[in-house]
Amino acid sequence: MNAYQYVDPGPTPPASSAATTKVMRRMRRRDTGPELRLRKTLHRRGLRYLVDVAIPGGNRRRRVDVLLRGPRIAVLVDGCFWHSYPEHGLLPKSNRDWWRRKLEGVVRRDQDTDAEITATGWLVVRVWEHDDPETAAGRIERLVNERKRGTHS
Ligand SMILES: [Zn+2]
Repeated sequence: MNAYQYVDPGPTPPASSAATTKVMRRMRRRDTGPELRLRKTLHRRGLRYLVDVAIPGGNRRRRVDVLLRGPRIAVLVDGCFWHSYPEHGLLPKSNRDWWRRKLEGVVRRDQDTDAEITATGWLVVRVWEHDDPETAAGRIERLVNERKRGTHS
């Protein structure tokens, strides 16, 4: 059974708080920079993948950024703000409580997404947007080779 429950953070703070609007706009924009760099690096290493597809397990409302079908690896590139990286994912100064609830909800959702993917026998790899693409791609390549050799349990 799925224990995940969405917790509503409450109504979005009024747009009067210009700061909130600004943060939302800045963060919501789909910054594909880190994803593109990672994909390019993976491609150069000879790895082939699908991009922005539904997670393994069929939940169509959740997406995987990079999917390596053969070795069954799902890669998600996480922005530091939305996914609460401890040092870069700082809460905005205004409406802190709302943001805390909102972002805690994202983290719970991430955990639930990982559980859903893992339950289908796929491996989840999460990469932070600030991770060095070569390092991240190297880690993924090693996992691909391990899973090809069948050394994973
Ligand atoms: Zn960061």
